[in-house]
Amino acid sequence: MSELILKNITKVYGKKGENEVVALSDASFEISKGELVVILGPSGAGKTTLLNILGGMDFATSGDYFLDDIEVTKLNEKKLGEFRRNDIGFVFQFYNLMPSLTAYENVYLAATLSKNSFDSMEILKNVGLEARAKNFPSQLSGGEQQRVAIARAIVKNPRLILADEPTGALDSKTGAQIISLLKNICKTQNKTVIIVTHNKAISVIADRIIKVQDGKIISNEVITNPKDVKDIEW
Ligand code: ADP
Repeated sequence: MSELILKNITKVYGKKGENEVVALSDASFEISKGELVVILGPSGAGKTTLLNILGGMDFATSGDYFLDDIEVTKLNEKKLGEFRRNDIGFVFQFYNLMPSLTAYENVYLAATLSKNSFDSMEILKNVGLEARAKNFPSQLSGGEQQRVAIARAIVKNPRLILADEPTGALDSKTGAQIISLLKNICKTQNKTVIIVTHNKAISVIADRIIKVQDGKIISNEVITNPKDVKDIEW
């Protein structure tokens, strides 16, 4: 059964006839619970726009978006804030950790703000960072910071994990560890994970590859035999 349904989502920036930009046009797709999805496209294709709508960070101009029983496109600003807090785990390219909080505190803060959260130390353990709990982000490597960011996303027990170029700032070996961790979370916790990237190499591990170009979904392919992370040719 589909968990996530996007129907004819369009996003237009600016004013008609003046500075209008159609960033996303008639985007439709369905994703099942527990799928690992890669959204692939070049710069300017509309990936960030799509991610912002999926994560409730921006309103669509038209169309419908359902996540389980939630009709996200019908939510007002307040409800959309609750949706972001409780239902979406974000992972960003540059980690976006709070520099004045320790690894543990970064995770714990997210846990306290959402209603279905897991135990923060348990989750830090899951990402292999129990021993670094008291370190600040500046004392951690890029890969470790991204693991804290992933812990911060999953501690909320969200319905959906959205990762925006999660390996973009990392070397290939560390990038592989991060993709491996995301895949592991997806498969062991049956969480839907969407990775947005311009890096075609990453897409080989996906259960589904959705390609975006010029604001349009140009293909949506189910991969029956996804490759292992070790087979990514960076
Ligand atoms: P990608 O993430 O694939 O690089 P984006 O979603 O950022 O693509 O952008 C898609 C298109 O929408 C681009 O042409 C971009 O310039 C335009 N765009 C994005 N955000 C805005 C905005 N806030 N105002 C106007 N145009 C925007």
